[in-house]
Amino acid sequence: MNECTSLLASSHIIADLPGHGNYVWQIIPTNDFQMPSSFGYNREQAATMFNIEQTEHYQADTLEELADMIDVPRDTFVATVQRYNDLCNAGADTDYMKARRYLDAIDDPPYQAWKMIYNFYCTLSGVRCNEHLQVVDENFDPIPGLYAGGNTVGYRFGDDYETLLHGGSNGLAATHGYVAGESAANA
Ligand SMILES: Cc1cc2nc3c(=O)[nH]c(=O)nc-3n(C[C@H](O)[C@H](O)[C@H](O)COP(=O)(O)OP(=O)(O)OC[C@H]3O[C@@H](n4cnc5c(N)ncnc54)[C@H](O)[C@@H]3O)c2cc1C
Repeated sequence: MNECTSLLASSHIIADLPGHGNYVWQIIPTNDFQMPSSFGYNREQAATMFNIEQTEHYQADTLEELADMIDVPRDTFVATVQRYNDLCNAGADTDYMKARRYLDAIDDPPYQAWKMIYNFYCTLSGVRCNEHLQVVDENFDPIPGLYAGGNTVGYRFGDDYETLLHGGSNGLAATHGYVAGESAANA
């Protein structure tokens, strides 16, 4: 997958996998490649911040051994890594469109597998509103006298919550309050 999409987008993708749990295995090589960070911290700082030693992880000298440790089919695993490496070496991820600066071939043993567990941290959904922040019914008709704002308003982010858009939720909450108040005053 392209793990450089936002955290919530990747969480949705993983949660939607049929018969899958809430985790993926992240496979990394041993090298000094510093993965660029959108959040401004490096690998060492991230390791401390997220206390990653507590995370379930495995290390092996070969991909085959690592596949056995995490209980996935060897052939598929090795072929997947090989395909990823080919894309890295070609300098373009034509499968998932991951940005070039993040492409680092998994070709330096020992290899590691880290169990990345995804959690949703907010209640999903909310009430559907029109552009005046009036809550609408199942026919999309406004319910008289009922307005909503902020977290209560559903569908405001589509199917993704873009964490790289700073202040997106607080900005919406304040703006919603303004628009809902104005709409109510003009009703
Ligand atoms: C850990 C965390 C980090 C976040 N970081 C960011 C960020 O960096 N940028 C960003 O934009 N957004 C961020 N958000 C999201 C943002 O804070 C919320 O989306 C925003 O505060 C929602 O505003 P709101 O007014 O809709 O709801 P709230 O701020 O939750 O306000 C609802 C209010 O209603 C009150 N209330 C509830 N029930 C009743 C009742 N029955 N009677 C009377 N009062 C009641 C509650 O006490 C509360 O004061 C973050 C949220 C969390 C939890």
